[in-house]
Amino acid sequence: MFAIYIKLSNDQFECVSPPIYSDLIKETYHAQSVIVDSIFPKQVCERGGQMIFIQLNEAMKKHHLDIKCNDKKLNDNDFQITETILSFESPVCIQGSKYLHIIIRKNNSQDPMDFKLPYHSHDNHSDPCGVINED
Ligand SMILES: [Zn+2]
Repeated sequence: MFAIYIKLSNDQFECVSPPIYSDLIKETYHAQSVIVDSIFPKQVCERGGQMIFIQLNEAMKKHHLDIKCNDKKLNDNDFQITETILSFESPVCIQGSKYLHIIIRKNNSQDPMDFKLPYHSHDNHSDPCGVINED
């Protein structure tokens, strides 16, 4: 699945297309001998606390994967794997960073997968996140 985003003047991203379901991205990933089919959501709140779901292309156990999130290694307690779905909570945006940086490496593979999910502002977003609006 993919969608088109435009970059706004305030450095946020806005989705300007409906999500498109396609094998295109999957094919590209496979060409790079990769382990991930899709990731959801496509952007995360700057305040963190959102669940991120990553569809793996095969069922895996925790100890098969090495996951880094904004350069911090996730411990066993920090993520879950149910069959082929990897999930974990998004961390708070590091000051000055526009992206959540996720690196996933399979133990026996040299090639890590590298994702950058854009952070969006906590103001005006519709999806629930880990933070309760104060206003
Ligand atoms: Zn939020």
